[in-house]
Amino acid sequence: MRTTKNLLPTYQDLEEIIVSESMIRRRVRTLGAEISAAFGGEEITAVAIINGALLFAADLLREVRQPIRLDCIRVSSYRNETRSLGKPEIVHSLTIDIANRHVLLLDDVLDTGKTLSAVVNLIKKLNPASVKTCVLLDKKGRREVDFEADFVGFSIPDQFVVGYGLDFAERYRNLPCIGVLKSHLQNPPEWH
Ligand code: 5GP
Ligand code: MG
Repeated sequence: MRTTKNLLPTYQDLEEIIVSESMIRRRVRTLGAEISAAFGGEEITAVAIINGALLFAADLLREVRQPIRLDCIRVSSYRNETRSLGKPEIVHSLTIDIANRHVLLLDDVLDTGKTLSAVVNLIKKLNPASVKTCVLLDKKGRREVDFEADFVGFSIPDQFVVGYGLDFAERYRNLPCIGVLKSHLQNPPEWH
C-alpha cells in the first residue's frame, strides 16, 4: 500500500520548471484580454477539453469580459502513458447546443494536433457561427497534422510536462506550475 506522503504532488518530483506559477498568472490575464478583444461584444460558447484544460479554463474564463456559456468534452488519447496511443477517442460529447454560436475550444497542450483537429471537425459539423481554438501550451516541433491554434499561452520544447491541469497517470494536475518530471518517476509500473 502506498502512503499518502508518496502520493502528494510535489515540486521535488520535478526535474525542471518550464513555466512558473507567476508566468502562468500573467499570461492567462493577457490571453483573456486578447480573447475578449477578438470576440468583440459577442457571447462566447467555451468548450473545454477535460480533464487537462480544467484548471486553465477556470482561470482563463474569469479573465474574459463578455458573457460565456460553458461546456466540456472528454477526449482520451494518452491514457496513463507519456506517449500518444494514436487516434483520439471522444468519450463524452457536448451537452449544449452550439449551432450559430461563437465557439472557443480550450485545450491544455497542442502536441501532434490530432486531438484538436478531430474535435474541431466534430464541432464544425454542428454548424457553429465560428470556431476558435486556445491552448495553454504549444509543442510546435511535435505536429503530425497541420493545425495551429488561434490563441497560445506558451510555446514549449518537445518534453512531456505535468502541472496546472496536466497529469501523469492522473497525478500532478494540482501543481501550480508546469514542469518536467524526474525520469525515474515517468514510468513506475504500480501507477498504471
Ligand atoms: P495531440 O492530439 O495534439 O497529440 O495531443 C493533445 C493531448 O495530449 C493533450 O490534450 C494532452 O492531453 C496530451 N498531451 C500532450 N503532450 C502532453 C504533455 O506533455 N503532458 C501531458 N500531461 N499531456 C500531454
Ligand atoms: Mg488533454
